[in-house]
Amino acid sequence: MAEKKFQNMVAIVTGGAKGIGSSIVKKLANNGYDVILNYNSSYEQAKQISMTNSNIHIFKADVSKYEEVCNLVNFTINKFGKVDLLVNNAGIDLIKTINDTTLDDFDNILKTNLYSAFYTSKEVSKYMIQKKYGHIINMSSIWGLIGASCEMPYSVSKAGLDAMTKSLAKELGPSNIRVNSIAPGIIDTDMNKDLTSDEKKSIISEIPLEKIGTPDDIAECVLFLVKSNYITGQIIQINGGWNV
Ligand code: NAP
Repeated sequence: MAEKKFQNMVAIVTGGAKGIGSSIVKKLANNGYDVILNYNSSYEQAKQISMTNSNIHIFKADVSKYEEVCNLVNFTINKFGKVDLLVNNAGIDLIKTINDTTLDDFDNILKTNLYSAFYTSKEVSKYMIQKKYGHIINMSSIWGLIGASCEMPYSVSKAGLDAMTKSLAKELGPSNIRVNSIAPGIIDTDMNKDLTSDEKKSIISEIPLEKIGTPDDIAECVLFLVKSNYITGQIIQINGGWNV
């Protein structure tokens, strides 16, 4: 029987239908949270996940668009009257040299990975401030910390998220709102589906724990963070020791 520690707690998880997001949604719901699973294109996956637990409620929004984020937050407030936890997980990647990267590519990555977190945090924090309670977790990346060759917009978006984490931790801390980043290394999801087995072997050879991480490794960290009371403004690295 799952531990039910978080009854009457409400979470929004963006990009919750696949990969890391879906593990976070299930972990939170199994621990008692009511979870708004935000999806954009993965309706079937979202529907299926919602059928596994009555605490999971699905809502379509393209989080790169401010109006759609407002709809997502309004849906949550109308249903539950509050948001205790926001997980900004939605993200896209692009592997291109700077010369091949178009202005639209750059805009698209920044809008999806970084502006989205501004939009959600702006809308959700006003309700958290009212309640004097809340927690925001931003899904960053190892590349935000050390930069990835041929993934400049992605790395910039994640470094921006980490700066947002630190700024908002300072600004919102006095309102009892914690803000943290999780920075995964390589995790086994669709984001890495185009890597060849030789490319994977080469990455694994650089990782002290000699393996790729799982979405559950990240979801466990989300659970650890929500159980804590005194961790804020941190970039938690989960990467098997890749950049040690
Ligand atoms: P994934 O399986 O490709 O999932 C990406 C998720 O983002 C999907 O649920 C997708 O939703 C959502 N998304 C993309 N654009 C969106 C938009 N405009 N509006 C709403 N949702 C949108 O990849 P993942 O590995 O689980 O990635 C999750 C997060 O972890 C990302 O922020 C990624 O940068 C980060 N991360 C991943 C790794 C890794 O190795 N996998 C490493 C470091 C960081 P729909 O499918 O519904 O469109």
